[in-house]
Amino acid sequence: MGIKKHNTTLHLILGVIGYALLMVLIIKFSAMNTEIVIGTAHIRTDGLCGVFAALQTLINVSVVLYCKKIGFRIVSCLYIFNLSYLIISLIVIQRWTVLPGIMSTISGLITMFVLKACLNKIELDEEKMRELAGTDSLTQLPNRRNLHNTLDELVKKKEPFALAFIDLDNFKNINDTMGHDYGDEVLCEITRRWNSIKGENHYIARLGGDEFAMIVTDYKNKDEIKKLAERYLFCFRDKFVVNSKNFYISASMGVSFYPDDSDDKTKLLRYSDTAMYMAKQSGKHCVCVFNSNQMDSIQEDVETENYLRKTVKDESFELYFQPQFSSKDKKLRGFETLLRFRDGDKLLSPFRFIRLAEKLNIVTEIDRWVLKNAMLKFKPVFEINPDVKLSVNVSVAYLFDDMFLHDMQEFLNLSKVPAENIEVEITETLFISSAEKASEILSTLSAMGITIALDDFGTGYASLSYLTSLPVDVLKIDKSFVDKIPDDDKGNDFAEAIIYMGHLLNMEVVAEGVESKPQYEMLKKFGCDTIQGYYLGRPNNFETALDVVYEDAVV
Ligand code: C2E
Ligand code: CA
Ligand code: CA
Repeated sequence: MGIKKHNTTLHLILGVIGYALLMVLIIKFSAMNTEIVIGTAHIRTDGLCGVFAALQTLINVSVVLYCKKIGFRIVSCLYIFNLSYLIISLIVIQRWTVLPGIMSTISGLITMFVLKACLNKIELDEEKMRELAGTDSLTQLPNRRNLHNTLDELVKKKEPFALAFIDLDNFKNINDTMGHDYGDEVLCEITRRWNSIKGENHYIARLGGDEFAMIVTDYKNKDEIKKLAERYLFCFRDKFVVNSKNFYISASMGVSFYPDDSDDKTKLLRYSDTAMYMAKQSGKHCVCVFNSNQMDSIQEDVETENYLRKTVKDESFELYFQPQFSSKDKKLRGFETLLRFRDGDKLLSPFRFIRLAEKLNIVTEIDRWVLKNAMLKFKPVFEINPDVKLSVNVSVAYLFDDMFLHDMQEFLNLSKVPAENIEVEITETLFISSAEKASEILSTLSAMGITIALDDFGTGYASLSYLTSLPVDVLKIDKSFVDKIPDDDKGNDFAEAIIYMGHLLNMEVVAEGVESKPQYEMLKKFGCDTIQGYYLGRPNNFETALDVVYEDAVV
């Protein structure tokens, strides 16, 4: 379903045309300097210009009132353009008759600023009144205050209910890459979709940002609530279209029950939030029902979070490198850089902390550190074997960061590593955020000579049209598909089809997570170009990677 802005656009266009026509009339009539006769009335043509200028102000006022921010911007530009024209006329042609025009344009401009200030004040007052009235001004849903009042009432009545917390996945990417106005339109569209399936015993509130809450009363059992929650998430299956840009978005949901989980409103809110957090942890876009074990797990995460923040500050991560080999002759192709984070004796999997780092908005710092240090460290490797590729995983947040391309160039200069030796691994989530922006950045990387690998292929949303239009050089088949080889026929067919398709698109295909000889043999038979996995080499420290390079050079 699309979101339309046509009325505003039409109003803007009509306003600008009206303004321009009146401008033409003013220029023409002011130059005539004669009289026209209508009935018995004799009217001076330059006197008419005042009437036209008043009409212009009227049009502009209506454009600002109707089209708000964008209307104000366009009208101000028109006035400034008009003013510049008149001032130039005054200076160059020295026509003093334009002086009244200049005065009226300046007064028009001042009127617009005053009008805008008044509108801002009215909007703020309205917002405050809505807040007091318990309505969210953007979506018209009940707001946080209203939710608390409703919960108080239900608890007072001792009526059982389910409380769900809903948080959109990766919404920050939409706001960051497409702007807040787009983000707002997405929130309104989600509300429209939910309202269309809302039952009488459902209550939905917007808590702020991309957070919502739902209360369901009068239900038969907990299974019914789980199914209902899934129906609400099902509303995200259709693509969103905002200003002709298509993208998908998803949400995670956590549910707790009154009075089973707690009869205290504050605790219940925390439990739903905890369950929602667990839904995010287990891959997002799903529903999680609260249980008390989740609290322990969250506690662990809080400890990890504290440690992670400290480690980022001290830059004390470790880099591991996993070799990749050609399937034909087992010649070394390159290494994937994998980050390690030591928490005491434990070596934490990035699967766990990268997601946490994304949530804490520190993944960009981490990725920058990895890119720089991997390149600096690998310098001697390229002197032994100039063909080795060094792959680095880059998160969506870092790829879209303004500094990313600048950093890349700086690290290439600093390390003196040729761009052709560097490979950037991206994931399909990139295309959910903004295919256009992604395409721009990837094309720049490609023009620099850097190769681009699409990681975890098959698990996300990448559509064939993106694959054909973007400069992707390498497809990495996700381990979950490799796991099914060689005993599962469907798994084999799928892997063979991906390899075939990759080659059709002129891409190199890498299989990751290859753990056994039968898997290796089968992938080799299917024509898979490169093998990465424990069977041929585990991720290891730099010294071990260097040994692999020497061994390969000797063979
Ligand atoms: P990934 O990019 O898909 O990396 C492959 C993961 O599979 C690595 O896990 C690797 O150790 C593991 N692996 C490789 N071969 C095998 C195998 O034969 N069997 C099994 N069971 N596993 C295998 P790791 O190192 O835990 O990394 C997990 C994920 O964390 C990576 O998945 C990547 O998405 C992310 N990650 C790692 N380093 C970075 C980084 O520097 N920046 C960012 N943004 N993400 C990173
Ligand atoms: Ca990877
Ligand atoms: Ca992968």
